[in-house]
Amino acid sequence: MGSNDAKLLFFQYVLYVLWVVLLIVVVYGFAIGLLANVSKKSVKSTGSSQLRLYCLGGLDVSASTPSGGGAKGGGRGVTSLAGPSSRRSLATPPADGDDDDLAQARRGSTADARNGLGLVGLRNIGNTCFMNSVLQCLSNTRVLLDYIRKDTYQKDINNVTSSMKGALFKAFGELIKELWASDSSGPVNTAALKSQIQRFAPRFMGYSQQDAQEFLRYFLEGLHEDVNRVTSKPKPITTDIEDSLPDAEKAAEAWRRYLRSEDSLIVDAFVGQLKSTLKCTHCGHCSVTFDPFWDLSLPLPSGRNSGALRLSHCLEAFTKEETLDGDEKPKCAKCKERRRCTKSFSIQRFPQVLVIHLKRFSPLERFRGKLNTLVEFPLEGLDLTPYASEAQSGPSPRYNLYAVSEHSGTPYSGHYTAHCKNPIDGRWHEYNDSRVSAASGRSAVSAEAYVLFYEREGGSSQRSRL
Ligand SMILES: [Zn+2]
Repeated sequence: MGSNDAKLLFFQYVLYVLWVVLLIVVVYGFAIGLLANVSKKSVKSTGSSQLRLYCLGGLDVSASTPSGGGAKGGGRGVTSLAGPSSRRSLATPPADGDDDDLAQARRGSTADARNGLGLVGLRNIGNTCFMNSVLQCLSNTRVLLDYIRKDTYQKDINNVTSSMKGALFKAFGELIKELWASDSSGPVNTAALKSQIQRFAPRFMGYSQQDAQEFLRYFLEGLHEDVNRVTSKPKPITTDIEDSLPDAEKAAEAWRRYLRSEDSLIVDAFVGQLKSTLKCTHCGHCSVTFDPFWDLSLPLPSGRNSGALRLSHCLEAFTKEETLDGDEKPKCAKCKERRRCTKSFSIQRFPQVLVIHLKRFSPLERFRGKLNTLVEFPLEGLDLTPYASEAQSGPSPRYNLYAVSEHSGTPYSGHYTAHCKNPIDGRWHEYNDSRVSAASGRSAVSAEAYVLFYEREGGSSQRSRL
């Protein structure tokens, strides 16, 4: 006797230790999730998660990097869970035209040629790659860049109703100017901006890694407040929009009402309008509402057997009619009873800058992992006509890609980078914290793409106030 018993005992002991480690990881993750909930503001729209994404890539980072992969999700209904980082392994081979671009970009990326083109990195001051990635995407946003470099924003600074009294936008403006200065040298420090961001949204305090899309939402909202042209709060309109109006007029009225209190260059550039239609399956009554959106959070449909997953599949899944039944049954305004209804979305008003968020992280089950599926999206000519409301008029909504915020790794150990197309010379670069390197546009299409920035063709001339 003895030998076998001892083995068993040892085995049980190992199992026990593993369980304890697992428990610690789970409790730790949960506690951080709870902390994330105690935030100053709440983001209204769908899709944003409370994930904490730990950054391993930042060279200057040392603290708070728990060993990844401790908590595994069940995997049900998820096409592929986070595996080892597949950096660029899915990138398509470069084509002839792109090679030329790349070679040219390389030739032009000496220190001198970089000056004045915003090709400057951002220092990682402790798990800030999520912020750096988003800042570089915004830095290459033409309409924002013009607004800052021409100092137009100065006259819009709202020091009356904005909680930050303009300090957030000013700090952002200074940073952008530094990135684009003709005598810029070396990576820029974001400490001044970061401290303003922390004042505006304390949840971004400290040095823990955050979700880039969530950060973008907060940040744009803060920038908007700081340059909101509405400096005295208007009396709220309490009456409903007349239901008998044609959809186009309803939409226009909803938009006018929105602009009464939210009116800034940020809104001009980034905000669109979504139409949601609720149809009663019993009496056929349609209830239509129009809401502003700052980005589109698209699901990644799983279970596709043939062919690559394309952005159009995600857009179809987003606009597809769904049935609300059981506990979800809404009350029909005509039947005055809870009825089975169908619900669908379409785009009523197309923004100048369209931000598309690929839902790679589950908003509810954060231990589920990350979808590393490659979504193929076009660099040019993304046509959103199929997803427009019927009432849509004017030129067809076509978009060109100019920036991508990327996440590599797992939800627990990841790193953010960005691919951006320079608004001046049209060349693509990869931004990895303090490093900037020439890239091809095609390399922006990867399984790491997380937040896509598209600019509408025709630029600012498309701007309409309805
Ligand atoms: Zn009904």
